[in-house]
Amino acid sequence: MSAAAAARQILTRLTEVMASRLHVQGKLDQVVEIIGECLSSEVCSIYLLREGMLELFATRGLNQSAVHVTRMAIGEGLTGAIAQKVETLNLAEAKAHPDFQYRPETGEDKFHSFAGVPIVYRERAVGVLSVQHIDPRRYEEVEIEALQTTAMVLSELIANAELVDEEEARGLTQEQTGPQTLTGLTLVKGLGAGHAVYHQPRVEITQVMAEDTEAERQRVYRAFDRMREQIDTLASQAEFGVGGEHEEVLETYKMFAYDEGWSRRINEAIDSGLTAEAAIERVQQHTRMRMREIDDPLLADRMHDLEDLANRLLRIVAGQIGTAASQGLRRDTILIARNLGPAELLEYDRRRLKGVILEEGSLTAHVVIVARAMNVPVIGRINNGKGGGVRTTIREGDEILLDATAGSAIVRPLPQVADAFQTRFAKSREKQAAYASLRDVEPFTRCGTRIQVMMNAGLRDDMSALAMTGADGVGLFRTEFQFLVSATLPQRERQTRLYRDVLEAAGDKPVIFRTVDIGGDKAVPYLASEIAAQDENPAMGWRALRLALEREGLMKVQARSLMEASAGRSLYVMFPMVSEPWEFDAAKAVFDEQLVYLRAQKKLLPERIHFGAMLEVPALAEVLDMLLPKLSFLSIGTNDLTQFLFAADRANPKLAERYDWLSPSILRFLRRVMQGCVGSGVDVGVCGEMGGRRLEALALMGIGYRRLSITPAAVGPIKELVRKVDLGELSAAMTGWLAEPQRDLRQQLSDWADARDIEYD
Ligand code: PEP
Ligand code: MG
Repeated sequence: MSAAAAARQILTRLTEVMASRLHVQGKLDQVVEIIGECLSSEVCSIYLLREGMLELFATRGLNQSAVHVTRMAIGEGLTGAIAQKVETLNLAEAKAHPDFQYRPETGEDKFHSFAGVPIVYRERAVGVLSVQHIDPRRYEEVEIEALQTTAMVLSELIANAELVDEEEARGLTQEQTGPQTLTGLTLVKGLGAGHAVYHQPRVEITQVMAEDTEAERQRVYRAFDRMREQIDTLASQAEFGVGGEHEEVLETYKMFAYDEGWSRRINEAIDSGLTAEAAIERVQQHTRMRMREIDDPLLADRMHDLEDLANRLLRIVAGQIGTAASQGLRRDTILIARNLGPAELLEYDRRRLKGVILEEGSLTAHVVIVARAMNVPVIGRINNGKGGGVRTTIREGDEILLDATAGSAIVRPLPQVADAFQTRFAKSREKQAAYASLRDVEPFTRCGTRIQVMMNAGLRDDMSALAMTGADGVGLFRTEFQFLVSATLPQRERQTRLYRDVLEAAGDKPVIFRTVDIGGDKAVPYLASEIAAQDENPAMGWRALRLALEREGLMKVQARSLMEASAGRSLYVMFPMVSEPWEFDAAKAVFDEQLVYLRAQKKLLPERIHFGAMLEVPALAEVLDMLLPKLSFLSIGTNDLTQFLFAADRANPKLAERYDWLSPSILRFLRRVMQGCVGSGVDVGVCGEMGGRRLEALALMGIGYRRLSITPAAVGPIKELVRKVDLGELSAAMTGWLAEPQRDLRQQLSDWADARDIEYD
């Protein structure tokens, strides 16, 4: 009988056994007989996990007296190694393998070849199925596949018969693979504890054998079509954006999605009698095994992409298309994703979201800004030290302690580690409480200068932070957040309601509304195709004011909404991405026109409108003298400004740490802008992430900035910092350092702060 015929026969006979009325033990006994016969193997054995050990449950060919007697620890012998690494072994000469161990009670000394596959349940090995042969021979691929299929069938049987419960499977990971520490880049500082939830959950396969092969084939065809469609449109969507690394990933995805070999293998697996889900999973297991044999780090990366795609195909086939957000979080969660768009993060329940682990990510990407605003710690560019993806280390539901400040995550922690973490957690809460006590304290420097410490916001919910932190107002209200969280363009009534609520929550404190800044990494579904069709580099593309001036309707609606919401009080408006003075004029003209209209309608108008601009495109600095006379205020967006000054994409993880905000080029630039504003008497501040970091805030104060608008969590720490600073001393030091600068001013500033007992970490 050919190997392929044998594999087919195995499945047919397994189907009969599984449908029979035999008891579980009877079924296991039958399975080893069938495999042994069809693969002409003298031995076939099934080991299952019981009380943390792999116990021989059924065998053909080994001594029957060893059944329920022979027990191996995970990691012990070949069987233990398969369970520990959750991988297949195929050896012509078992004794030559370093993990080989001889068990006299089984009588296995006469066998040479050995092949074994893990029996996997909920991503954990709960048993091993193995065959042995007297002659040295390697099993053929189809034979290994038949074993893998059998292992899937056994996993279904084991789950139904509750032979291995989930607790036990968990116990295995705790004891045997134990705690793991992953390291990454700090994106949002803080501590968080919870259970792992994948943004894109893995599908549980509940039925392995098909009832109607043709129907399964159709399901897989349809799923392939949908997946290819999705991949083709992904380039224009928020999940990936366009450019750089993302494009590479997308190309690889396309290559895999259209790979004939992949779809053919899945079809063959369906032919052998599997359901669509089981066929996809079995082909994936096989690919994993092949990839492991090739020792190439680049391939490990590709494997990661293919895993992602196979997972996507599985979700489509199983009809589980939504993300974890759509299923709702049931307990404290550490969310894990390759990358996220800001809108995707906002879909999660804030109360249960305790932290985020991203495989990519960078400091000023909007998802990170949103997380910072939500006060959710984040680490990115995660690494398990072995080059594998996080899925190899973290399983759905694992306990995780996230120390984003240190850039690490402890997975499945030991109890004493968890205790120590809780102690730190308590300390950090104490510190937060100390900051909260500064709420009503005005931030004067030691030399008596009042620094304006305002906060950034973007949603209605953010406004509660104003009272909690005692910030001086909202220095940047990112109005586009409302656009990001809605599936369609927000209508005027909805916008007016939001702005009114925000102003009401602010009381008599000022709120600076920034007109929509969509585009770039802030993609919105209803404009995505237009933006992507035109832009190879969306950050420098048709975004913010550029888009708004051409979509005048959008700007008009926003102008009306803002004016109606501020009836009877002051309105502060600021335009993003102003690159030339005429753009400011054009934007202001839209507001003027709406004001005329509202006046004609006899509507109650704002008492005063203050118009400001953001400086985030370097070119504007050269013509600032032309713009300043028209402005009530200027606000510097250091996130975009630095990406343009350094020509370094703010969302590119490879550049995340390359350039420093404390570089002389940025600080000299900012000082020059400051001098221009002082000369014209225009109020100027910084509203980028830079101002919320303490060393950076010191530098900004040292070159003359007196207004910072920062993330709410930073308000307390920055107030505390302000109160310890003598500006005369600081600016003298800054002048000296900037006259003869080093690569960056980090060391000098931290030494300066250390000498004065000023905390800055
Ligand atoms: C900036 O660019 O610094 C800024 C504050 O705006 P955003 O981060 O929303 O682009
Ligand atoms: Mg910006």
